[in-house]
Amino acid sequence: MENEIKNQEATAAPQQAETTPQAETSTPEQGIKKINIEKFSPRMLMELDACTRCGECSNWCPAYDQDSREPLNPRGRARLFKDIISRQHGAFSADSFLGKLCGKKPVTEDEMKAFAKDLYACSTCMQCHFVCPVAIDTVELWERIRETIVDIDCGPLDSQKDLVLKTKNYDNPWGQPRSSRARWGKLAKKKKRIKDEPKDISKSKSEVLYFVGCTASYDNNVEEVGINTTNILDAAGIDFGILGNKEKCCGSVLLRMGDRPSFEKLCKENIEQFNDLGIKTLVTSCAGCMKTIREDYAKIGKLNFEVKHTSEYIVDLIKQKKLVPNTPVNLTVTYHDPCHLGRHSGVFDAPRELLSLIPGVKLIEMERNRENSRCCGAGGGLKSGYPDMQNKISQKRVADAILTGATELVSACPFCYQGLQIGIQAMNAPIKMRDITELVCMGLGIEAGGGSKDEGGEAESV
Ligand code: SF4
Ligand code: SF4
Repeated sequence: MENEIKNQEATAAPQQAETTPQAETSTPEQGIKKINIEKFSPRMLMELDACTRCGECSNWCPAYDQDSREPLNPRGRARLFKDIISRQHGAFSADSFLGKLCGKKPVTEDEMKAFAKDLYACSTCMQCHFVCPVAIDTVELWERIRETIVDIDCGPLDSQKDLVLKTKNYDNPWGQPRSSRARWGKLAKKKKRIKDEPKDISKSKSEVLYFVGCTASYDNNVEEVGINTTNILDAAGIDFGILGNKEKCCGSVLLRMGDRPSFEKLCKENIEQFNDLGIKTLVTSCAGCMKTIREDYAKIGKLNFEVKHTSEYIVDLIKQKKLVPNTPVNLTVTYHDPCHLGRHSGVFDAPRELLSLIPGVKLIEMERNRENSRCCGAGGGLKSGYPDMQNKISQKRVADAILTGATELVSACPFCYQGLQIGIQAMNAPIKMRDITELVCMGLGIEAGGGSKDEGGEAESV
């Protein structure tokens, strides 16, 4: 393995890794197509080798917690993948003289498909990275492995392929028409839930773009997030706009499922559209959109604006005295850190600070919080690929919340809202799901919607 890594270091660089050709074809006796290891940087290959098999990740992985088979264990996944590429590449590969001498067997199609199936039983929650004593960048590795698995037609799972296809065809993973993307605003205006529909920023310029995201736009169970955010920005007197029917998915689903070429295409289109608007700030309520636009887009193109999560943006508005929450909200709450907001983007403090600025709100932390927050199981394609597992993971998180004695479970992501609602309903749990914007509205004396309603709504979760 060390020799293979040295060879890789001489020929591959991280930048090159993005543009390398597709997987090599193979003959039947060689087994399935080869994984294209040129897609992995030398550091990634070294990380595969650096795993000490200590097993700390096994104690924390929410998927392995539900299905304790070694291929679902981060440690096991790294070991299996290392075995696959060593049998396909290098001096001891199955088709080499030395490999044959040592009795190495080609990787079969069934073997590769079984590996891929387990690879997608992961919410990309990043917990394994945070507990790994050698700090292996596990999720970057899992996502890059998914890309190479897609290249050899072994991934993603069928239910996940549907999301990818819909995102490419409809600009949203739910397959909803583009023309109904801004319907939530029209309905809210009709029901007098908002004063005015948010303006179309492509027609009338603003410095602030509210990027609503697919989930809050289409799922009527979480449309409150858009309604609340609109009311909060209006109350602060912010001149903002939305893209409405011209808003496209951030592409997170494409990236997490391993379809990097489609992600890059969408990402470049979105960056061009955002930059052309001349905005200074893009605000989003969704942890997945936030991570994708702020972290992943920035690796592909230059963003001429800052990206903020609504919790960060609203805290700033309160500090600038543009918002004054002075209506007591006498609720005992606990806060769930969305993985893509917390561990992935480092935003742990803003939502907590925001809760502390709402009079009457009492926050009780769950035992697992911040970097060690237990995932709700909704991300990374886990919910669409393994809904039963997601349901059970969600129930565990809801049980964490109930143990605090809080009556409200607060999060800051429409996706977590959906994901945790499933656990609440499965357990018939005595706790209400709330998006953080609901509590802000209550603190501002604005009628807020929300609380757990029906599961699912119009759209299912990625
Ligand atoms: S990212 Fe989360 S779900 Fe995936 S292997 Fe790591 S701990 Fe498990
Ligand atoms: S915690 Fe890190 S080093 Fe330990 S088994 Fe897991 S991936 Fe390997």
